[in-house]
Amino acid sequence: MTRPTGRLVTIRLEPSHRQQQYAGQHFVVRLTADDGYTATRSYSVASDPDDDLVEICVEKLPDGEVSGYLYDVVEPGDTLEVRGPIGGWFVWDGSCPAVAVGGGTGVVPLVAMLRQAQRLGVTDRLRLAVSGRTAGHIPYVEELRAAGATVALTGAGHRLSADDLRPLADGADLGFVCGSARFAEALSSTLVTVGLPVDHVRVERFGPTG
Ligand SMILES: Cc1cc2nc3c(=O)[nH]c(=O)nc-3n(C[C@H](O)[C@H](O)[C@H](O)COP(=O)(O)OP(=O)(O)OC[C@H]3O[C@@H](n4cnc5c(N)ncnc54)[C@H](O)[C@@H]3O)c2cc1C
Repeated sequence: MTRPTGRLVTIRLEPSHRQQQYAGQHFVVRLTADDGYTATRSYSVASDPDDDLVEICVEKLPDGEVSGYLYDVVEPGDTLEVRGPIGGWFVWDGSCPAVAVGGGTGVVPLVAMLRQAQRLGVTDRLRLAVSGRTAGHIPYVEELRAAGATVALTGAGHRLSADDLRPLADGADLGFVCGSARFAEALSSTLVTVGLPVDHVRVERFGPTG
């Protein structure tokens, strides 16, 4: 476990049963209280499918039930109940050119795509654009910057626009957009505006729970 910022915790899991994983998938974490109350939440995988461990990165939300527990209570060596990997749509196998856009913790599945592209030697096929209020609100921001991602800080007045995405989408076969519902709606529309067919844009929304 690491805490790269005061709000983010990165946890590397060793699942008891490992299944084939694809970049872009998520795991479900289930917490059970002593009285039997349960809470389940989804967390995207940041690690390359070839990694021995499964890495998730959780943002602690104010009064967030599960994210607060994962940030404040869980310690290295603890056992967590998880299910996954899950998802067959928001996945990229590296075989075609793609543009991937993430907001806040929505960058996490894109990091798995990036790490996979690096392992396969096909980084030229993945163009990345990420956004957050400040750099501290974008997990893995230095890794993404080093990979050439366009980084837009809304706190500094930079919102991702058609001008940002047009060159990245040029020649892409698939688009991926991940973030809050509002971010996902706005940026998936922008990808269509700059020329990606609507059925080539895949969207993952991080709701308040789920
Ligand atoms: C496919 C998928 C992948 C995801 N991947 C990630 C990821 O990689 N990293 C990540 O951090 N998150 C991810 N999420 C979001 C994650 O699943 C949780 O929604 C998030 O961690 C919040 O859960 P929580 O239990 O901490 O907060 P919750 O307890 O669900 O609360 C969420 C927010 O709502 C507020 N709230 C709760 N109840 C009320 C109320 N009655 N009135 C007003 N406000 C209220 C809380 O204060 C909190 O700020 C993903 C979601 C999906 C669907």
